[in-house]
Amino acid sequence: MADAPPDPKPLSPLDKDQRQGLKAIREFLRKRTSYDVLPLSFRLIVLDTDLLIKKSLNILIQNSIVSAPLWDSHISRFAGILTATDYINVIQYHCQFPDEMSKLDQFRLASLPDIEKAIGATPIETVSVHPSKPLYEALRRMLKTRARRIPLVDLDEETGRETVISVITQYRILKFIAVNNEHNTILLKKTVRDLQLGTYTDLAVARMGTTVLEVINLMVSRNISCVPIVDSENRVLNAFEAVDIIPCIKGGAYDELNGSVGEALCKRPEDNPGIFTCSEDDRLDSIFDTIRKSRVHRLVVVDDENKLKGVISLSDILKYVLLHGEEDDAA
Ligand code: ATP
Repeated sequence: MADAPPDPKPLSPLDKDQRQGLKAIREFLRKRTSYDVLPLSFRLIVLDTDLLIKKSLNILIQNSIVSAPLWDSHISRFAGILTATDYINVIQYHCQFPDEMSKLDQFRLASLPDIEKAIGATPIETVSVHPSKPLYEALRRMLKTRARRIPLVDLDEETGRETVISVITQYRILKFIAVNNEHNTILLKKTVRDLQLGTYTDLAVARMGTTVLEVINLMVSRNISCVPIVDSENRVLNAFEAVDIIPCIKGGAYDELNGSVGEALCKRPEDNPGIFTCSEDDRLDSIFDTIRKSRVHRLVVVDDENKLKGVISLSDILKYVLLHGEEDDAA
């Protein structure tokens, strides 16, 4: 007769709390819809695909936004979301086909799929979700496709036409969780180190003197959207994000990409909050506290001397909150 399996190790009070907190947050996400995340009043800037790419940059900058849903008015359909990744593709096109500069100047947003194809980039999936579907579903879809934002698309029953209601980002969802679940996030007392939250090996970094183009190439080859900037002692000075590219190429000025990251960071809007750091001893509940209070896009993990240890992206946090030990939920 086979031996009975050994009794599972009893959970520590810390583990029990952590599990209970995660379970409650997941239940919350199953009960709430994407609609619930939206504020009572909000604006939505939608760009027509007939717009020139270089003009779209100015519109984003003037409105202090870094992405926008696209609308194909010829067929009255939602045509995906414009993000910093599209501009990175345009830059790569510029580098691969330098003789086509005059053509590039005349490209419209509708040309983005052709640009993507010409440089051999993996097409970005145009996922969307109905606003009344559970938030849990929207999040799973985002994690599966690695989308950092998801458009809420409704269907007008009378005309059968699509309407873009809004776009929700990873940050908006995490903030929604943080604000409405203080009593649950407080249970998440395990540290970043315990959870191994984020990435700690083979980190992509740059120096202040690295050119913007080199950092873009790094982001493309590593499929990441942020590169910490460190000094010769590995101390964190700042971080260059994909959205920092937008002011660099304003008006189609691709030559500026040969400038340094340090110069590019000076083009950030004055109200830019800068980077958020944490230590490996910080607990997940304190990270939720930061999310509750500030617009965090990622956390750079540093040691006592401010030396770089790792990077925690919002997708790392969402993946943990949604998927870690999922099978235990049924218990
Ligand atoms: P965002 O940070 O814009 O919300 P994201 O969550 O997909 O997007 P990315 O920065 O693309 O984050 O990170 C994807 C994965 O790569 C994450 O697991 C993250 O920990 C890791 N990562 C992020 N930045 C770096 C970096 N500079 N070097 C190595 N790995 C990184």
